[in-house]
Amino acid sequence: MHLFCHEQPETLVLETDVSEARPGRVTLAQSPFYPGGGGQLADRGVVRWHGGEARVTGFEYAAGKLWHLLDNQAELSGKVEAVVDADFRRTMRQLHTDTHILNALVFQSFDGALVTGVQMAEDGTARMDFDVPGADNDRLRALEGPINDIIRQDVALRLVYVPMHEAQAERGLIRSRSVAPPPTPDGKIRIVEIIGLDRQACGGTHLTSTAGSPPIRILKVDNKGRHNRRVRIGLA
Ligand SMILES: [Zn+2]
Repeated sequence: MHLFCHEQPETLVLETDVSEARPGRVTLAQSPFYPGGGGQLADRGVVRWHGGEARVTGFEYAAGKLWHLLDNQAELSGKVEAVVDADFRRTMRQLHTDTHILNALVFQSFDGALVTGVQMAEDGTARMDFDVPGADNDRLRALEGPINDIIRQDVALRLVYVPMHEAQAERGLIRSRSVAPPPTPDGKIRIVEIIGLDRQACGGTHLTSTAGSPPIRILKVDNKGRHNRRVRIGLA
């Protein structure tokens, strides 16, 4: 699946055409919105047209098309302007990038531990669940310093598309079934790389380099059953 926001994550205001419309919902020729998934919340924003504006309240896929659900029952046509909420997107990109750093360090420090869940929140916190049987919670808490070192070092991120069979053959590239994006129509999978630190399959939006995030704090480490640890981080 290729999304416009994957190719152009910096484009948050886009003039585009209505493709299809029903009262209160619309599909667009191009959409700058991230529709959610992989633990990242869907973008917020508005769609404007000559003489009006509606808030985007959610997204729905139907027959391969992305419907933008609106907070009024207008039936749109012609040209519109789609506007992503920039502050919200920035918070998501920061949290998302920071969860990759946490994930990378847990993977390295705990013998290839896999992610069992991730969820970002609009208040600038995120939780990640890891399958780390018998892990010492203090060792997890101690990752806060190394995470912030990587943020300070301003390490660049880049995106590559790798054929599915290669992705499956590289250890740790697909770190969680729940986070990995669906392959593109030509059978490739999107890999997010923090250069020199980590590579993993992901379909979300990230920073272009780590210093775009403020430092983080590890707020809490909880046991979730015998195998799982839940780590909660927050933007400082
Ligand atoms: Zn990601």
